Amino acid sequence: MPQQYQTTLQRDVTFEGVGLHTGAHSRVVLAPAPQGTGLRIRVGGGAFRPLTAETVVETVRATTIAVGEQRVSTVEHLLSAVLGMGVDNLAISVDGPEIPVLDGSAKVFAEGIAEAGVLPQSAPRRRLVAIAPVYYRDGDRLLIVLPAASFRVRFTVDFEQPVGSQYFAAEIEPEFYRREVAPARTFGWLHEVEALRERGLAQGGTLDNAVVYDKNGPVNELRFPEEAVRHKVLDLVGDFALLGAYPQCEVVSFKSGHKLHALAVADLRRTLTSEDSAVANT
Ligand SMILES: [Zn+2]
Repeated sequence: MPQQYQTTLQRDVTFEGVGLHTGAHSRVVLAPAPQGTGLRIRVGGGAFRPLTAETVVETVRATTIAVGEQRVSTVEHLLSAVLGMGVDNLAISVDGPEIPVLDGSAKVFAEGIAEAGVLPQSAPRRRLVAIAPVYYRDGDRLLIVLPAASFRVRFTVDFEQPVGSQYFAAEIEPEFYRREVAPARTFGWLHEVEALRERGLAQGGTLDNAVVYDKNGPVNELRFPEEAVRHKVLDLVGDFALLGAYPQCEVVSFKSGHKLHALAVADLRRTLTSEDSAVANT
């Protein structure tokens, strides 16, 4: 049974480090926020704006959002920890062009949130309740949203070897999320790293913040045998944080990524009809 009431943090928490793609140093502060305000974000001391699916401007390799004139990339790991740890209302201040990559997972974000403490508020939690199946498709990528009592994800990936096919299923609630999902790191292939760098991406990428595979297997030690698919679940949770409500549904994914998640979340948001709960109806 998911929590019934909205939550925020008990105190501020700050994260600092370099961005995976730009290599630039950045800082992000999460601060408590009043009930009913949802997730709001500001960049460089500007005005706070709602952080929802409408702010997404780019979904290649990471999710990038526009905040007024500014852009912030790689928001999905931070937002994954926010939804995974069950935080509804938050004022997020960012200094820099990208959210820090830290260890390439959401572990530091989830632990920071847990240490700051999650505070229940008095208003009922805003939910998006799926009442009928709906699916989204992009070539061989598929995302199905089904009715469920709580937010669940079942994910299948089908990569080239040595990652191969992997499957992971999870109910996204704070204890499980923090232990089994948040520590799964982003990953890539050694032969792609040069190509990425030529495109100006992965400038901050090292073996300390990503799992790198060569043709024989992972170059660094894995945290879970199926760490890659767990990271895909982590990314999906981050993209669903832009729903602006608790996703009371089961999401079944085959090979989905940021682009398909953004499309689904934008569509699901259009079905939100009331302040405190809503229905996905197709
Ligand atoms: Zn990721």
